[in-house]
Amino acid sequence: MTALTSQQRRRVERELLAQRRAAADVAHEELAHATETSFASIAGEVPDFGDQATATTLMDFDNELARRHIEAMTSVEAALARVKRSDFGRCVECGADIGYQRLLASPATTRCVTCQSLHEKTYATGATPTL
Ligand SMILES: [Zn+2]
Repeated sequence: MTALTSQQRRRVERELLAQRRAAADVAHEELAHATETSFASIAGEVPDFGDQATATTLMDFDNELARRHIEAMTSVEAALARVKRSDFGRCVECGADIGYQRLLASPATTRCVTCQSLHEKTYATGATPTL
């Protein structure tokens, strides 16, 4: 068993459910925005290369945002599936307790602070200069 009490576990579960509702609301808004923001409406009916580049960049940005939201929703769903299991709140890397405060702040997390930090250093590519 982890160090979470049943009361703490319910509190983390409520936080996950709130995050799921918030994510669903954002997804609905983005879907509505996406249907009214087509490539043609951004670039114009007869786009020049500058319009096309701008439209492509904006649509790539929207796609990236959508991808991140889907990733976040998937991790919240996975956490909701795990929350009632006895190993919920244990780090998937080292098996240590993640800790109630960290779970409250980030209820879908699967790693303790130490392992998350190591994971980010190992797999971070976005902030690394490419030159
Ligand atoms: Zn760990």
